[in-house]
Amino acid sequence: MSAAPPRRAAGRLSVTPSLAPRDMDRPRASARVWQARIITLFPEAFPGVLGLSLTGRALKEGRWGLETIDLRPYGLGKHRNVDDTPAGGGAGMVLRADVLSRAIDDAQRGMPENRAAWPLVYLSPRGRPFTQAMARDWSRAKGVTLLCGRFEGVDQRVLDHYAVEEVSLGDFVLTGGELAAQAMIDATVRLLPEVLGNAESTEEESFSASLLEHPQYTKPAEWNGLGIPPVLLSGNHAEIARWRQEQSEAVTQARRPDLWAAWTGGQPD
Ligand code: SAH
Repeated sequence: MSAAPPRRAAGRLSVTPSLAPRDMDRPRASARVWQARIITLFPEAFPGVLGLSLTGRALKEGRWGLETIDLRPYGLGKHRNVDDTPAGGGAGMVLRADVLSRAIDDAQRGMPENRAAWPLVYLSPRGRPFTQAMARDWSRAKGVTLLCGRFEGVDQRVLDHYAVEEVSLGDFVLTGGELAAQAMIDATVRLLPEVLGNAESTEEESFSASLLEHPQYTKPAEWNGLGIPPVLLSGNHAEIARWRQEQSEAVTQARRPDLWAAWTGGQPD
């Protein structure tokens, strides 16, 4: 039996297991640019939206890297089964620990032991909610390995054994981890200086200073009988900055009492 044919993701060969142990063909670039490594049953979901616009351009230019590890070839038997029924009964299927562990071992080969330098994460609604601060931490690492679940999730033993960190996209349940992975990678990659090029625009955004962003306007100056706040057309940069700050505070106070309390609590009088 031979392994499934290798797939391509983002113009780069994905990792597939072979029966004979061999050195993984790690792209040389991985030593230099930030890498996302994704274990998934659906490698064809990548790069997905990450292949578009800013993140897509930077990916094509090799300013960050994306590697998918197809879980299917690690499966058992003729059908490469990756899941089985939950111990104790109940609906759905659970991804098997033995199958997952072989994929994780391949993904982690040659990786820094230090998890801060290369987080190993399972996308999970039970996880710590993803935040801008986590995106920043990840962007300072060399890369991340993301494990995308499907069905009812993964066998707990694999999470315990590898000390996998669980991270959630939010308080809702998705069908699989792939969308969550793309959202988190997007938030991280746009913070890489080599990707965005202009660090200033990330510094002024929502959450960086724990306030939501002020409203934005562009041309035309009048639309549907509606104008643009005159201060924005005044050319007075100090006034514009003050207006934006006031708007940020007002919108944060109105919409996110939690962020507002954290902001006012953290500010000197
Ligand atoms: N039975 C599980 C849900 C499984 S959903 C539970 O109730 O906790 C299937 C997969 O989708 C999960 O394994 C996870 O990888 C992914 N997923 C679902 N919701 C998610 C969320 N909010 N954040 C991140 N990943 C999520």
